[in-house]
Amino acid sequence: MSWRDLYCGELRSDHIGKRLTVAGWVDTRRDHGGLVFIDLRDHTGKLQLVVNPERAAEAKDAAHELRNEFVVQAEGEVVARAPEAVNPNLPTGEVEIQVDTLRILSRSTPLPFQLDEENVDETLRLRYRWLDMRRDKMQHNFRVQHTAIAGIRRQMDALGFVDVWTPSMTRGTPEGARDFLVPVRLQPGKFFALAQSPQLFKQLCMIGGIDRYYQIATCWRDEDLRADRQFEFRQLDLEMAFVEREDVLDVMEQAVVAAFEAVGDEAPARPFERISFDEAVAKYGNDRPDRRFGMEIQDATELTRNSEFGVFKNAPAVRYIVAPKAFSRAELGRLEDLAKEWGAKGLAYIVVDESGEVRSPIAKFLSEQELAAFKAEPGSTVLFGAGDEAAVARVLGLLRLHLGRELDLIDTTRNDFHWVLDFPLFEQDEDTGQWTFLHHPFTAPMPGQETWDESNPEGVRGQHYDLIWNGWELGSGSIRIHDVELQERVFRTMGVSDEEQQSKFGFLLEALAMGAPPHGGFAMGIERFVAQLANEPDIRQVVAFPKISSGADPLTGAPTPMPNEVLRELGISAIAPENSSSR
Ligand code: ASP
Repeated sequence: MSWRDLYCGELRSDHIGKRLTVAGWVDTRRDHGGLVFIDLRDHTGKLQLVVNPERAAEAKDAAHELRNEFVVQAEGEVVARAPEAVNPNLPTGEVEIQVDTLRILSRSTPLPFQLDEENVDETLRLRYRWLDMRRDKMQHNFRVQHTAIAGIRRQMDALGFVDVWTPSMTRGTPEGARDFLVPVRLQPGKFFALAQSPQLFKQLCMIGGIDRYYQIATCWRDEDLRADRQFEFRQLDLEMAFVEREDVLDVMEQAVVAAFEAVGDEAPARPFERISFDEAVAKYGNDRPDRRFGMEIQDATELTRNSEFGVFKNAPAVRYIVAPKAFSRAELGRLEDLAKEWGAKGLAYIVVDESGEVRSPIAKFLSEQELAAFKAEPGSTVLFGAGDEAAVARVLGLLRLHLGRELDLIDTTRNDFHWVLDFPLFEQDEDTGQWTFLHHPFTAPMPGQETWDESNPEGVRGQHYDLIWNGWELGSGSIRIHDVELQERVFRTMGVSDEEQQSKFGFLLEALAMGAPPHGGFAMGIERFVAQLANEPDIRQVVAFPKISSGADPLTGAPTPMPNEVLRELGISAIAPENSSSR
């Protein structure tokens, strides 16, 4: 016996007159004066069963027992629905099955929420993810994900990439996050780190002559969870030997396009636009700009150099954005609070109201020339940032994004894919003054910039590139260092002693000294990509069993404390009170 002859969503008028067996979940049950109507559901859709007590007395008894989400099997005859009962919104809506036998295969306890209920608390949905997954939207998301990944894999294969598995348990790879640690029973007191990425292994694959490596690799990073971050996530991770930047960008674009084509969406035009890091920060205040709306940051540093307004005159940078709305005093107060939260001292403004009238506490300090330069359209507000360059960019960038959303300026029909290029190789830690890497320490400097003052590498650019989709950083990559001396110079500049270089990265330095080809690569976050593809606001909607922001898994209750005997065997002891980890 087979459980079913076809899927629920496949029933059509061609089947009229046939006897068929179907199986699935009870989506709804409606009693209508003796007749019982059941919507039966599986991942392909719904069909209608009709149980007529005059036709099938036993089935009627079973039908009365049914509750939502029971699993049933039904056998009967496919008939046309009466014309007034046809449901044009359902592909199966012209027909129904007159049931002869109905078997309850599995029952369900009362549900913690109904599948079609709106605004169910997300933690509750995740606690009962197996129910949540039955919803159309979730089914759709997982299938889009599968199809996109399958498209990417086919493309990688066609381009000659070889899927090589690399270890999850390794030494820490510096990707800028904390490591998750794995204690080792055979070596008590010692730990593996879960790979933050396969970065060094993929480079070793190049040195090992693999030529083109890829993997849909799981990565682990101990960071605070956000809309686009989970502790564990997957990347399309790739590396190529004997390539330049353009070769890597070209492959990544092909992978993205293959995924769009696989899911049947219109692919973004290639080549994707490229902008420099400097331009991104200057115009949008950050290095992953959302360019689906304007309101670009403009510079007024020179213009205000001799301003009467001291705040402008003395600031290393003065910049502004023009919002298409004449804000009220209360609204400006709220914006100023936000700007202060983001690190601004205040928020200077000029409001030009609908009649062209100017409202501004600073207008009296500004010259005719300054006012004329800032003169905006009626019904707008000029918002200023003044201070050091990085802070001004950050605050105005955040303000721009906030207002873009608030004023509904974002063109959500647009898909903006672009590359950000020409990043600085190093950045200075604000607190310690120590120079550190911007991407990771294996990124090569721009050709011709291989030497620098090791105590002040400001201005050295790296061959690092980021892929941005609608303001989300999808991933990063770079051309790598394949020269051992250059690698040592980068480590020294970051203050990594010779000893530490040897102890942490000795294997890499050794490999680089044994015939390393020029190479470069990229990694793109799969969940970020798929969430955007599925039009979801956060990656939890495309992760089967995600963690919530406290870092817990509401479904299994992990993480949990461990008994002392277990810890002892691993050579560790817990100092946190046991109940602090059971949040
Ligand atoms: N390993 C890098 C990352 O995970 C990507 C790369 O440089 O290829 O961001």
